[in-house]
Amino acid sequence: MSKYPGFTIDSSWILSRRGSKNQVDPFRPYAFFVEKEHTSGGNIEEVAAVFLTNRECPFSCLMCDLWKNTTDNPVPPGAIPTQIEYALSQLPPARHIKLYNSGSFFDPLAIPPEDYEKIATLLEPFETVIVESHPAFINHKTLSFSKLIKGALQVAIGLETIHPEVLPRLNKKMTLADFEQSVSFLSSHGIGTRAFILLRPPFMTEEEGICWANKSMDYAFRTGVDTCIVIPVRSGNGAMEYLEKQNYFEPPDIQSLEKVLEYGIHLKKGIVLADLWDIDSFSSCKKCLQPRKERLNRMNLLQTVMPPVRCSCTD
Ligand code: SF4
Ligand SMILES: [Zn+2]
Repeated sequence: MSKYPGFTIDSSWILSRRGSKNQVDPFRPYAFFVEKEHTSGGNIEEVAAVFLTNRECPFSCLMCDLWKNTTDNPVPPGAIPTQIEYALSQLPPARHIKLYNSGSFFDPLAIPPEDYEKIATLLEPFETVIVESHPAFINHKTLSFSKLIKGALQVAIGLETIHPEVLPRLNKKMTLADFEQSVSFLSSHGIGTRAFILLRPPFMTEEEGICWANKSMDYAFRTGVDTCIVIPVRSGNGAMEYLEKQNYFEPPDIQSLEKVLEYGIHLKKGIVLADLWDIDSFSSCKKCLQPRKERLNRMNLLQTVMPPVRCSCTD
């Protein structure tokens, strides 16, 4: 069997495999919480995470399921500030904030630029503001927003993988040159960057998944990124289930995430965090799941490699 399917993976194919969206309210974020994170100052601090409801991202990446909590049309001006205000009124205090919008913060059809000033006022208490964006939307609007906010801006960009044959097949419509250009543009204006890196995207074996996540992290830090977030790839958007059935995709094991996190922390080039959302689904052994989760969480917070978990499933 070939490593890659014979059919073309493009937006229309990906969209045709989708199920339905969740019901969302344009005046409420679809999730929010405060979590602890290892920050650039070397401390463990509270970070508020607000998942904004807004128009669906115009890219349709093969592995993305963020469209599930989006609207079909742009939200009206004023809706995003209302969402942030609501989340902040419910959350305990935090020093930093992530505003993730299932797309690009600087996409004018996602976050209306006329709302930037109001958003900046609401963000005054925060030392760091983290938003996400595809390189296609990183431009003068990013600089305008950065100037409006009191705290330091950090932009998270999905690097996904540097594998030369897999990255184009993810339908991200981004080249490594685009990524590098965005990171250097942001750095030259004193704006921080974080990179999302996929652990075992489609068309990779478990070993290749680990190897390319490590290579992608090396590359991201060489490019000048401050923080790497390693995301184990899951199915759940229709297209991925199809690829899974055809043996073009298998989710990675929690132990591979541990290996990649260990590698990244050993590099000492910047902060490396494992994304632990829905982590239970990446383990086939009930016995060691809890200790592995705790190990990953401690490694995230302390940025130190912790002693390995021993279990009959691997020993
Ligand atoms: S750019 Fe990001 S949000 Fe948009 S489809 Fe791709 S992964 Fe999803
Ligand atoms: Zn086990």
